Amino acid sequence: MAVGHAGAILTSSLLKTAKAGHGRHVAALEVTSCGARFPRGCYLRAAQANRRPGRQHQLPKKYRQQMSYDLIVLGSGPGGYVAAIRASQLGLKTAIVEKEALGGICLNWGCIPTKALIKSASVFEYINHAKDYGITVGAPQADFKGIVQRSRDVAKGMSNGVQFLMKKNKIDVVMGTGMLKPGKKVEVTAADGKKQTLEAKNIIIATGARSRELPAMKQDGKKVIGYREAMSLPAQPKSMVVVGSGAIGSEFAYFYNAIGTKVTLIEFLPNVVPVEDEEVSKQLERSFKKQGIEVMTSSEVTKVDTGGKGCKVTVKTPKGEQQIECDIVLSAVGIATNIEGIGLEEVGIVTDRGKITVDPFYATNIPGYHAIGDVTPGPALAHVASAEGIICVEKIAGKNPEPLDYNNIPGCTYCSPEVASVGYTEKAAKEKGYELKVGKFPFSASGKASAAGAKDGFVKLIFDAKYGELLGAHMIGMNVTEMIAECVALRKLETTGHEIIKTVHPHPTMSEAVMEAAAAAYGEVIHL
Ligand SMILES: Cc1cc2nc3c(=O)[nH]c(=O)nc-3n(C[C@H](O)[C@H](O)[C@H](O)COP(=O)(O)OP(=O)(O)OC[C@H]3O[C@@H](n4cnc5c(N)ncnc54)[C@H](O)[C@@H]3O)c2cc1C
Repeated sequence: MAVGHAGAILTSSLLKTAKAGHGRHVAALEVTSCGARFPRGCYLRAAQANRRPGRQHQLPKKYRQQMSYDLIVLGSGPGGYVAAIRASQLGLKTAIVEKEALGGICLNWGCIPTKALIKSASVFEYINHAKDYGITVGAPQADFKGIVQRSRDVAKGMSNGVQFLMKKNKIDVVMGTGMLKPGKKVEVTAADGKKQTLEAKNIIIATGARSRELPAMKQDGKKVIGYREAMSLPAQPKSMVVVGSGAIGSEFAYFYNAIGTKVTLIEFLPNVVPVEDEEVSKQLERSFKKQGIEVMTSSEVTKVDTGGKGCKVTVKTPKGEQQIECDIVLSAVGIATNIEGIGLEEVGIVTDRGKITVDPFYATNIPGYHAIGDVTPGPALAHVASAEGIICVEKIAGKNPEPLDYNNIPGCTYCSPEVASVGYTEKAAKEKGYELKVGKFPFSASGKASAAGAKDGFVKLIFDAKYGELLGAHMIGMNVTEMIAECVALRKLETTGHEIIKTVHPHPTMSEAVMEAAAAAYGEVIHL
């Protein structure tokens, strides 16, 4: 479903002005601005043909072989498509190449479909607990196929939305597998094997990542699966071992457990969600256990035997070796970048430990080639990929963007209770040598949390005792993924503890806990 690239050129500024009667003049400008090598008359004839209702214009084949742009973006995830839109806003003639579906992992197999699954799980849980809210309903049934279908529909809708945005921003979408070539070219092979070569002044590599495989857990897509299969299984498994308790593993553990699958969550490190502040990790472990999830920390899967009906999982635990039987093993042990087979070696682009090496504005070692998102170092998050894409394009366009502050990136896990954080954990801040003031406000003391029946969790704020700067914010509880942005802004503005205490928060809200946690750090807390 490629959007004709030649068509997009003609339906943009060129065609508009051609209709206004300045076709020949603008055609010349267009040719110069994007560097395309077509005779003016060719554009004009096509534009004139296009004015007749119902007529599809086509450039002669010889002119369609090699298209020329200011920017080609390889990969249309939240890094690539956002970069393309910003480029178009800045007047760059842009094409985006995608081999699968617009929107990348985020919209099709990551952020969005998982949140749709989690929403279904939380609706199911609400109905199960309706009695607690004074409402009588019958026992709900989780229709697994229906839940999966809704998630796929949501993903499809979002991907279609990106298609609309590409069209709106006059970005040429070229569907096919892109391969980088020297001389700032990209060879695109379509699904039917047809090849075309695009060239540009600049190329951004945004090819993202896939599920990482461990030798002890080779994914067969049926019994040992990755995240794609986990969100599109044909039937609900009775039991599942989830290996890895980062955001992806914890979200799936919550989802499957909530709808009735027996879940064992295995984590190699001593704490679940290991990048989070230790107090948050401990609280999540307690909450997961309360929900019925079996949590095994400091444990390692050494073998998965899929020979029988289900899986036999061998786990090395601090108390010795253990065997767990289950229907399905979900491997959620991180990601592997899509940097193979895209022409990096031929162009000479340097990589390091599986990631493309870039400067603070995402330029690689080869002039004109840039890289953003999951293929580069830094947290593998959609909002990071997008922010990098915007900075990269602004730099290409000659603007003067600020480099991204990687110490002020929020991270969220959308299980229940939700987890959100930004900045230093208490341990990391101490290791950095800061003297700290730490304040914590539990949701059990929050009016809004009580009214909502969501008293689990807390907000913890960490301040530099010397200057009062907010070094880190750590939250666990209902809706905290919506609250963390406040702390990102507070940190960006270098707000002090006392300024937060004096910032009036609306009552009753979960966000009052931010103000109260700041007050707790300075011995001024009201509701404890
Ligand atoms: C289950 C799951 C849940 C997640 N949840 C969240 C979340 O809640 N919040 C969050 O911030 N992040 C989340 N992430 C991470 C997030 O999805 C990624 O960080 C983000 O998608 C990275 O964006 P990207 O643009 O770098 O690459 P991707 O989104 O991976 O997109 C890369 C695109 O490039 C295409 N491509 C690859 N090679 C080629 C080629 N040779 N030619 C043409 N096209 C190519 C791919 O088909 C893909 O569409 C989640 C990830 C997973 C797996």
